[in-house]
Amino acid sequence: MKLLEERIRKDGLVKEGNVLKVDSFLNHQMDISLFQEMGKEWKRLFADAPINKILTIEASGIGIAAVAAQYFDVPVVFAKKSQSINLDGSVYSTKIQSFTHGREYDVIVSKKYLGPEDKVLIIDDFLANGCAINGLSELIREAGATLCGVGIAVEKGFQDGGRKLRDQGIRVESLAIIESMDAASGEIVFRA
Ligand code: 5GP
Repeated sequence: MKLLEERIRKDGLVKEGNVLKVDSFLNHQMDISLFQEMGKEWKRLFADAPINKILTIEASGIGIAAVAAQYFDVPVVFAKKSQSINLDGSVYSTKIQSFTHGREYDVIVSKKYLGPEDKVLIIDDFLANGCAINGLSELIREAGATLCGVGIAVEKGFQDGGRKLRDQGIRVESLAIIESMDAASGEIVFRA
């Protein structure tokens, strides 16, 4: 998606450790007109899928998922990062290794909001090693729901999360795929 690529080129900051900062329009301050265009694009890409729910993860996924949900006209559920696993059986839970914080955390979704009748589109801001998306697909599997696909804003194509998901037959639609980026020069190359 040209609009997103241009914005990343203009306002994205390449940091050491393969981290792209997009705080000025996506991860901290949010450009809602851009989110709307992203939502329309995911709707176009997944027009044929019978999606009735969007699943994301707090915190950065919530804004883009909420705006995208307007075009799908479906509810959004966000997986919560939890300190203490609820043992009363009312939640689905799994562990996710955080790319940006380098530690593992538990995520939960209430059994009330995900179930066998759900046909789910996962939306998230970044795809790097795929841990976040694998965790969310695990929650969908536990719930007996169906995963229709994954919509990603920025995929770092030089990390292998996207390849592994596609190898499993999961449909992944990333609006910008970064082939390479360099912290010293700030150069970002997108996949054509
Ligand atoms: P993964 O689980 O695929 O390894 O990493 C994806 C998660 O880590 C995303 O939910 C995102 O929050 C965070 N993340 C991964 N890479 C980056 C990055 O380059 N920049 C930012 N801002 N977040 C990232």
